[in-house]
Amino acid sequence: SQIMNSMPKAELHAHLNGSLSLLTIRKLIDLKSSHNCEDVHNLESIITKLCDEKHNKTLDECFEVFKIIHQLTDSEKSIYIATVDVIKEFAEENVRYLELRTTPRAIDGSLDTYVDAVIRAIDDCRKEKVPILVKLLLSIDRSRGVEIAKKIVDLTISLGHARKDVVIGLDVSGNMAQSNVTDYFPLLHKIKEAGLKLTVHTAEIRNDAETEAILRLKPDRIGHGTFISPSLIGSPHLLGLLKENNIPVELCLTSNIVCKTVPRYQDHHLKIFLDHGIPFSICTDDKGVFSTSLSQEYLIAFRTFNFTLSSMWSFSRKSLDYTFATENEKEQLKKIWKEWEHENV
Ligand code: 5GP
Repeated sequence: SQIMNSMPKAELHAHLNGSLSLLTIRKLIDLKSSHNCEDVHNLESIITKLCDEKHNKTLDECFEVFKIIHQLTDSEKSIYIATVDVIKEFAEENVRYLELRTTPRAIDGSLDTYVDAVIRAIDDCRKEKVPILVKLLLSIDRSRGVEIAKKIVDLTISLGHARKDVVIGLDVSGNMAQSNVTDYFPLLHKIKEAGLKLTVHTAEIRNDAETEAILRLKPDRIGHGTFISPSLIGSPHLLGLLKENNIPVELCLTSNIVCKTVPRYQDHHLKIFLDHGIPFSICTDDKGVFSTSLSQEYLIAFRTFNFTLSSMWSFSRKSLDYTFATENEKEQLKKIWKEWEHENV
């Protein structure tokens, strides 16, 4: 486990509010207590229970957990604290590149306030020289409707110009079962036309028609891709489409096990994608809610499939090719990876 921790890693799929550690959650509860908010102790017991009980959660129950956590990140200050903590925790386990994603919620009626707090946290970590390059994707929550999504897309495009060093694109997430993704396609085309990057949660539950529509849209990456895998009764036609378009997939092993979309680690589609030459990156999804870390996810893959250290390094190294960083940034990062390889592999 030590070696997976020390290996430089890139995290490409981490939802801010799902990544809060219990330490941060306690801090945010204390912050609320100091403002004499009622029900904080009730909140603490619910959150501890939900985050600790790693297993026995359905995907729908996970969405309920996020609603509770959102009650703690409802101010500029709490969002700032949450972001700084998540960045530092990833940096501590040698994640050297982080693409954080988050769904802006209105704070005092303003989405900008939310995003500004996140960007300020990223800037401050940069000033403090925390050894990690952090980029931001704004998320639209499919279950919240097109109207708010449009505002988030406009904000992404404006920040994608004004703060292009940080804001690189858009993620589509939220409950797949409660929405029709094609409603959002005109907005997703706008993101592409603006030259920004796009990643979409795809085939997290089985819906072949929707999966095909997303793959034909050609996002820059997709999240999960679970039911594209023929082993999980996905269709070979979808796998072919994924391969043809060479779309990298963000894979989150523990998340899929906890949410029961994959029965056991050894059934995970990572191995099938590897065998079919589909590009992928190992990610955490929600390290807080699923009680994991990126090092832990690498260790699980390493042990489950008996990979060599050299394979693990190459998975991590290839992730850099799938990032939305600039070519120059990728070159700088590659040097860190090379150095570690030279000393350890
Ligand atoms: P936030 O965007 O508030 O920082 O992070 C939590 C949100 O990310 C959730 O409310 C949900 O919209 C999205 N999210 C987190 N994990 C998952 C996941 O596994 N699947 C999907 N579809 N959405 C997720």
